[in-house]
Amino acid sequence: MAGDDYEARRDFEHTPEPRGGTGTSGEDPVFVIQKHDASSLHYDLRLEIDGALKSWAVPKGPSTDPSEKRLAIPTEDHPLDYADFEGVIPEDQYGGGTVLVWDRGTFDNITEKDGELQPLDEAWKNGHLLVELHGEKISGGYALQRTGSGDDANWLLIKMDDDEADARRNPVSTEPDSVLSGRSIDEIADDESEDDE
Ligand code: MN
Repeated sequence: MAGDDYEARRDFEHTPEPRGGTGTSGEDPVFVIQKHDASSLHYDLRLEIDGALKSWAVPKGPSTDPSEKRLAIPTEDHPLDYADFEGVIPEDQYGGGTVLVWDRGTFDNITEKDGELQPLDEAWKNGHLLVELHGEKISGGYALQRTGSGDDANWLLIKMDDDEADARRNPVSTEPDSVLSGRSIDEIADDESEDDE
């Protein structure tokens, strides 16, 4: 069941992360990209599919250049509430480090099969999905393509060549701060350590 790994890996007495529930977020599915300053900095892409946030860790973050293929390593489903989570996970907890909501918004499924829209959960299971993101920093079509089979298969995240494609933009470096609070990773870390005093 979605979310079992997520709960099993966390001690909710000791992490500020949401425990989560079930259900859906509303009419349009949501996506979030969380910058995660853990043992190595990465960007967690999460898409609402089938009542949970399907998740990938993208070491370099998303590109707006269609010629750049970004490695996306699948990680465990997260509860929908996680899309708003920003804060510090204690170092002794799974995924310990600072989390910043780097971008978020809604998305449309644009995956087609035999000329018809393919349901998102099927597209995800088949390892090929096309989505149109409506974020503040990231928008337009993206392909997520699984590159192998088995539990440890990786995926690629690739910008589709549409009006939002732009090889000159590099939002990961030019727009580093939170769309939720305007804070930087360091400011979030500092704010949380002040809370503890
Ligand atoms: Mn992460």
